[in-house]
Amino acid sequence: MELDAYYKLISSESRARKYLLGKCFKNHQRFCPRCRCRKLYKLQEGRSRCSRCDYTFHDFSGRWINYGRLSALQWLSLIKLFELEVSVRKMSLQLGLSYRAVYGAVSTIRMAILSHAEDAPSLLGGEIELDEAYFGGRRKGNRGRGAAGKVPVFGILEREGHVHVSVVPDVSAATLLKLTVKKVRRGSVVYTDKFRSYDSLMFCGYRHLKVDHQKYFSSGRVYINGLEGFWSWAKERLMKHHGVSKDRFPLYLKELEFRYNHRTGDLFDQVANYLCDLVPKRD
Ligand SMILES: [Zn+2]
Repeated sequence: MELDAYYKLISSESRARKYLLGKCFKNHQRFCPRCRCRKLYKLQEGRSRCSRCDYTFHDFSGRWINYGRLSALQWLSLIKLFELEVSVRKMSLQLGLSYRAVYGAVSTIRMAILSHAEDAPSLLGGEIELDEAYFGGRRKGNRGRGAAGKVPVFGILEREGHVHVSVVPDVSAATLLKLTVKKVRRGSVVYTDKFRSYDSLMFCGYRHLKVDHQKYFSSGRVYINGLEGFWSWAKERLMKHHGVSKDRFPLYLKELEFRYNHRTGDLFDQVANYLCDLVPKRD
């Protein structure tokens, strides 16, 4: 979003609210967030009651954006600062909110992003790079495969396109091939290094080309620099968070995947869309 459009949006609470409501309800047609029934009774203080399931709700009920009773203006400022990668501490100073409130809101943004992480319907294709990396762990050294205490992450990168990264339990051939087959179109050209787990790619319907790091870093188009660039970009960003716990790590990883995949698009608008979605029901 352009800065002047953003300033216009945050010129009043009612404008900010209208923008968010437009994302919650297409054409401003209200419906029950539980059963999607459109026949509603209006109650006081902006609440409604569903004629079918009796659920009483207000505009943002059941949505990510309902977290923490923040105003529409506060949410839009939070989204903007998140887009600019401002730290939680600085956000809380700028917005006059507690660290706890901002941390909760930013975590909500990350969870909304994570809930959309598996959306991408189309398979990656064309020229693909595969590689694994290890994140976290306090000790330096002990690098490479099997590094103790570190989280293995598998990356699939479509050149000039999207990246898909996931935390994996191990880097066995079975694990990596299963993810590749799920995400990459058959017939694609796949570049990897010489790690053994990639040896059976040619049997899965891919044209497999190996990079030999020891001989030369790249040879013509046979390189995995795109993914290596992503790893160092991601690690640099994660450093700012001063160590992320293992169970929260996927949240941060998917945020980086999202940032990378929307590097040329409108991140602000996309985050607002996700936040206005209904929180998926847990089974
Ligand atoms: Zn209902």
